[in-house]
Amino acid sequence: MPTNPVLVVHGGAWAIPDEMVEAHLNGVRNATAAGWRLLERGGSALDAVEEAVVVMEDDETFDAGRGSFLNRDGKVQLDAFIMDGATLRGGGVGCVERLRNPVRAARKILSDSTHVYFVAEGAERFAEEHGIALCRNEDLIIPREIERLREYQSHMEEHRADLFAPTISHDTVGAVALDRDGKIAASTSTGGTLNKDPGRLGDSSLIGCGCYADNASAAASTTGWGEPIMKLVLAKWAADRVGSGSLPEWVAKEAMNYLKQRVNGHGGIILLDAEGRFGIAHNTPRMAWSFQTVHRKDAGIEK
Ligand code: ASP
Repeated sequence: MPTNPVLVVHGGAWAIPDEMVEAHLNGVRNATAAGWRLLERGGSALDAVEEAVVVMEDDETFDAGRGSFLNRDGKVQLDAFIMDGATLRGGGVGCVERLRNPVRAARKILSDSTHVYFVAEGAERFAEEHGIALCRNEDLIIPREIERLREYQSHMEEHRADLFAPTISHDTVGAVALDRDGKIAASTSTGGTLNKDPGRLGDSSLIGCGCYADNASAAASTTGWGEPIMKLVLAKWAADRVGSGSLPEWVAKEAMNYLKQRVNGHGGIILLDAEGRFGIAHNTPRMAWSFQTVHRKDAGIEK
């Protein structure tokens, strides 16, 4: 008996300003449509999360792929992870500077390598050797982000106090999916945090922190201030609770309470189990989300 597929995506959790709401909603809707086209034809959850993330990496609205935040040196450095809940295979890249779609390289690592992670030049070399064209770092940089970094660096002292306040943008993207074969998968992709130190790796590409998938528990993708999230290994924390019998909807909310109470963190999470039950939660003012099932589809920006 085939399973009814489900796809849930997010496009970052922060105080998304009113004038950016439409772009965020369009972005998560387009990503959902791309992933859903595969799932409804019987495609795999892994392919669906990859395609959904590619759409958002290509969309300059988000902090992933082209249009990402710049690091302290004015460069884009990207992290991404993808995981197959059926086999527990994962692929991740960190601190890559010449990949338009880091999730494509992460997927190649998952499929073609015995390793789980490649970082920096080694990741770019792996991607190139596996047929993925490299771009220039300048190709990933847009004027909006040059201006954002300039503004940030010229008001460093004022910003220092609230760098991690929810008003600071967290536009990381992610997706979780369940396919007709009952398999789940998850993926997360990011440009990290504004003005980050070169070489800083966030939670997004770290297994169990920003992304996790296990058919025995759940698929999860997080967004938000990465350092607190990684301290709690939050995606795995949430998946384990689903594995112990709690409903994803409830666990997603609990994960946000835990993040706030334990380490004063903020962000958002999407969580899906192999029964198709899912949860979407954030403790920031807004989070762009979207989902599709055979019966329903919806997208939103608030709880
Ligand atoms: N979690 C990401 C990081 O810390 C940032 C984000 O979600 O926007 O790299």
